[in-house]
Amino acid sequence: MSGLTVDQYAEENNINRSTVFRQCASGKIGFYFDGSTRMIKGPKEEDEFLFNKKNALMEFEISEYREEDFISKDTILCPHCAAVYPSEHLHRKKVLTCGICKGVFTVTVEVIKSYTTIIKGERLTFGNQFPGEEI
Ligand SMILES: [Zn+2]
Repeated sequence: MSGLTVDQYAEENNINRSTVFRQCASGKIGFYFDGSTRMIKGPKEEDEFLFNKKNALMEFEISEYREEDFISKDTILCPHCAAVYPSEHLHRKKVLTCGICKGVFTVTVEVIKSYTTIIKGERLTFGNQFPGEEI
C-alpha cells in the first residue's frame, strides 16, 4: 500500500478524505504523508522527527484553529502546529523555534496593568471599614 494517494486509500477503504487525514494524524493506520498527497508506511524507515513534524502539521491543517486562537493566550502555542510551550521563564519578546515542526515564531509577553490602593493613615469616612463591609 506504500505510495498510495489519499484518494486511492479513501476509495479502497470506503472512507472520505478527511477521515484518512485524521487516521494518519492519530497514527491509527500507520501511514504518514510525504509532503504531497502520497501516503508512505512509517515511521520505521523515516526519521522520527520528520514523522512527528508531518503529523503535527497535518493535524493542524485539519484542525479548526483561527488566528485569534494564538492572540493573548495564557499558554504559548506554536502558530505553525499548535504545540504548547512552558512560559514561566519568559519575560520579554522572544523568537522561538518549535521543537516539533521547526517553525519560527515570535512570542510577545503581554502584561495587563492592574492597580491596588491602600489607605495610608486613618480612613476619612465610615470609621475604619469600607461602606460595603459589615461587621
Ligand atoms: Zn510547531
